[in-house]
Amino acid sequence: MHSPDHNQSTLTLHLSDEAATARLGCQLAPLLAPGMVVWLDGDLGAGKTTLVRALLRALGHGGPVRSPTYTLVEIYVISRIYWYHFDFYRFNFPEEFLDAGFGEYFRDDAVCMVEWPEKAAGWVPAADLVVIFHIVGEGRTLDVVAASEEGQKCLNALKSGWRDAGD
Ligand code: ADP
Ligand code: MG
Repeated sequence: MHSPDHNQSTLTLHLSDEAATARLGCQLAPLLAPGMVVWLDGDLGAGKTTLVRALLRALGHGGPVRSPTYTLVEIYVISRIYWYHFDFYRFNFPEEFLDAGFGEYFRDDAVCMVEWPEKAAGWVPAADLVVIFHIVGEGRTLDVVAASEEGQKCLNALKSGWRDAGD
């Protein structure tokens, strides 16, 4: 688990219900560019898959968005961009990332969103953006952390655009 230092590279958001998580997905969706890697950190049930679902829906995906818990990866092609949604929770060893050939998914024409990146530690490519989910009472607190120049641009845009009725 990452512990961000609270400088200008972190945006902390309080999301009081699932609808607020969905609004974040809508705002984040247009800011992600091909080649970017997003790590989603946080306990089971914290809202990682919920965020990805909202994000893909915002991009126009009309079908189901299933948790990749068993399949390890779910693949979406939207506007000629590949969106890969990984979940490495079930890995017993980080090397399973290599055995599955997942390195080939991290390309310039793909956005990779990764749940449980720590289960593939040492092999999963570094993140541009890390979203850390905390369960706080009935809601969630998220730290959105920029981990590259690309990620910082994205975070800056998110900061200036973030509006949430719950805040
Ligand atoms: P994860 O992928 O992190 O294991 P899921 O997205 O599958 O978690 O499940 C998250 C659960 O929490 C869902 O039941 C969803 O309705 C709920 N949830 C999502 N965001 C929030 C929020 N901001 N506040 C309260 N509940 C939320
Ligand atoms: Mg999940």
